[in-house]
Amino acid sequence: MLLSILALCCRLAEPPAPAPPARPKLVVVITVDQLRPDYLDRWKSQLSGGFFQLVNEGAVFADGYQDHAVTETAPGHSTILSGLWPAHTGIIRNSQGVQDSAAALLEVTGPGASPRRFRGTTLFDWLKAADPIARALSVSRKDRGAILPIGTAKEQVFWYQSGLFTTSRYYADSLPPWVRAFNARRLPFKAANATWALLLPDSAYKEDDNEVWENGGRDVLFPHRMPADSLLAAGAIATTPFLDSLTLLFALDGLEALRLGRRGTDILAVSLSSTDAVGHAFGPDSREIHDQVVRLDRYLGWFLKRLIDKIGRDNVVVVLTADHGVTSYPERTRAKTGAAAFRVSLDTIVTAVNRDLDRLAGGGGGAGAARQWLTLESGMLFLQDNGRFAATGIRTDSVLDALATRMRAVAGVARVDRVADLPRADTASDPVARRWIHHLPPDAGVVLVVTLQAGSVWDIPNTPIAMHGQPSDDDAHVPIIFWGRGVKRGIYRGRTNTVDIAPTLGRLLGVTPLSLIDGRVLTDALAPRN
Ligand SMILES: [Zn+2]
Repeated sequence: MLLSILALCCRLAEPPAPAPPARPKLVVVITVDQLRPDYLDRWKSQLSGGFFQLVNEGAVFADGYQDHAVTETAPGHSTILSGLWPAHTGIIRNSQGVQDSAAALLEVTGPGASPRRFRGTTLFDWLKAADPIARALSVSRKDRGAILPIGTAKEQVFWYQSGLFTTSRYYADSLPPWVRAFNARRLPFKAANATWALLLPDSAYKEDDNEVWENGGRDVLFPHRMPADSLLAAGAIATTPFLDSLTLLFALDGLEALRLGRRGTDILAVSLSSTDAVGHAFGPDSREIHDQVVRLDRYLGWFLKRLIDKIGRDNVVVVLTADHGVTSYPERTRAKTGAAAFRVSLDTIVTAVNRDLDRLAGGGGGAGAARQWLTLESGMLFLQDNGRFAATGIRTDSVLDALATRMRAVAGVARVDRVADLPRADTASDPVARRWIHHLPPDAGVVLVVTLQAGSVWDIPNTPIAMHGQPSDDDAHVPIIFWGRGVKRGIYRGRTNTVDIAPTLGRLLGVTPLSLIDGRVLTDALAPRN
């Protein structure tokens, strides 16, 4: 009896166990592919939906950056929920992003994909370690947009291919019933003969619709009509706002089917690709991108309302960001401002150096294709085989110095840096060097980096599109907005980076990174209870 009374006393005397952190039930991360923050200012008076809600009720970081050099889709998406620069995620270019022939797609033909190149952990891993019942759903039109935000986790990850949403064998052996049911509705195929007309009256658009550099000179005027063939239409809607509405609809179906946000805390990541497709085809100054942004605002308003209705306003936290911005057509920049802006190709120079190396190595230099001693992609010069190069006895330094000199003489090239010299740069006053440092893993084999002048872009043969990929502010500046539970509304100045998103959400969720990260917690934007 005494013992049991003592036991009772002792139990009573113990301090109460700390309550588990009350987390939001759903974290929603919306990445708008190629969304420049100035779009939200430029057409502010016409925004009344999701963009309006997030900007007016959220914590808006006005100086947000994907602060790395090769501002492409795969590196950009790899930073958002990992808290890591591409130098640490290992995802430094689209062409070596998520492609994986060993991870075939389910029920549709297309390039296999997986996160096998991704290094590090993500917010989802941190959450899952603290809360084993946590789940994630990540969706996009693009494989890399769906895969990279949640890293290597084998969760519900789907993307669009040939009119259907699918995944790869990395994640599953079959599509779940809700995805099959969504695909069976064949919504993209019903877009045959549909038209993309302006949402607002003509007078609401100040942009000239008839710009010669748009869309390779084809179909530049509203309304844009989808092909009559349903399969072609399912492909063509990728360059219209409709694919964003489809992606959001699919995300909501998944949210409901998986009952996300109803048990513990779950993550819903949505990457919306139409802004990127429209921006590439028509440019950041076009009537088309204007209409795309206004329409996406309405779609996002609809999407957020449904999320809030289902999960409750107090249970949701939302982040809006982008994987990169975009640079206008160099042709347009020249015509409108007179500024020097070019499409730059250094392929001839690199090929000539490879031929010289062949000759010097005694292995050729004839009429056939030169061996690939050095390759240039996205401004990064890769030394393909260090051992083979060393065996020739040729001095790498002298080759690279000569090559850099020839490259610097090309119109549109701003600077060429030796990677070995970058650590000596003043990263506060030299954002280009800083962005390259943030970009390059030491084992990437990159020996030189080429940066173009503002307004110039890398040339893609026979593809006269608007481009991104530079360490310029046009390409690197992105929106970063937090909204919802635990977020302190306001406009916040000072450089903020997409690598700060994951640790900030981690603090909101009461979870800690599982590995070293590059980002910091944006404490100013968190309500005091955090
Ligand atoms: Zn992108």
